[in-house]
Amino acid sequence: MTSTQDAKVQTGEVVLEAVGLTKHFPVRRKLRQFFTREQNAVHAVDDVNLTLRRGQVVALVGESGSGKSTVARLLAQLYPRTDGDIRLHGESTRVKGGGAFRAYAARVQMIFQDPFASLNPVHTIRYHLTRSLKIHHNAGKTDEDLEIALRDLLTRVSLTPPERYLDKFPHELSGGQRQRVAIARALGAQPEALLADEPVSMLDVSIRLGVLNLLRDLKERLNLAILYITHDIASARYFADETLVMYAGRMVEGGDSETVTQSPAHPYTRLLIDSAPDPDRLAGDVNPLDEDRGNGEPPSLIRPPSGCRFHPRCPAAMARCETDLPVRLEIGDKPGHWAACWLYDEATVKEAAK
Ligand code: SF4
Repeated sequence: MTSTQDAKVQTGEVVLEAVGLTKHFPVRRKLRQFFTREQNAVHAVDDVNLTLRRGQVVALVGESGSGKSTVARLLAQLYPRTDGDIRLHGESTRVKGGGAFRAYAARVQMIFQDPFASLNPVHTIRYHLTRSLKIHHNAGKTDEDLEIALRDLLTRVSLTPPERYLDKFPHELSGGQRQRVAIARALGAQPEALLADEPVSMLDVSIRLGVLNLLRDLKERLNLAILYITHDIASARYFADETLVMYAGRMVEGGDSETVTQSPAHPYTRLLIDSAPDPDRLAGDVNPLDEDRGNGEPPSLIRPPSGCRFHPRCPAAMARCETDLPVRLEIGDKPGHWAACWLYDEATVKEAAK
């Protein structure tokens, strides 16, 4: 992206929106005999809403099986959605042909969790980057243009000097270097949004911060919108402007990262934060996992719990939680902080105050 293009885009401009995004996977035929007709689907994602803006990072946090990676794949249009919409600059992406998909893919790029699996082991770094540049028509007209573009991509991800890396194979690089190549390949499309699905979880702890700092630097320099999928809520606080928490396919809390991580409102978010290893916790302190009334795992998404999906595990569950699906409720005086939890319903608060 040129500096002229940089100047044209406004930080905060909405790039990508998910509106009521829903994904139900059909249950495999062999298993269907065990379920009723209504239970013939895995409710992986239900009614997810989120907005990605230029120059901002949104973290989507949750434990394994919460549906967060499915949201990223839906936004990348790798899966067809069951319901809802994805809007790019306000325009619906429904019913578009292959050409429109290619244009979409150039603007919305995905970075996968495992950089080794996402790179072809029989091809060099030069091959991977050249392919990305050529597919998206960013290779220039001459061999010299291509060479400059290749070097520029590697320099952007701090793999310097570029000539040291261009003709290497993926297995000759470290995990962190491979993830940098995967990021460079995504940048070859000159995207506006990056969907980073657990981009550091497979890397050594010592190099995770370097890759997160690189993504933050790219966000600022290229004004990228970034969706950061993670199970590590502590890294969301460090890296993301906004944090959204998912449980069992539904969004349960959202707000600016500082507020969500320092003053969590939803009982699940509190459990998630309190369950993180804490060297300051003294022996004999209550282990937050003891508060978990379930088996510490998300429920089956073929038969998701009625009402609030967290109610079988929630230490604060009330009678209505088993029957009524919680709606988003504003929390306290922090604008934009919300939780889908009946504890914040006015009627419940009044009842508790009697
Ligand atoms: Fe717990 Fe009820 Fe809130 Fe769900 S709605 S998190 S069960 S208190």
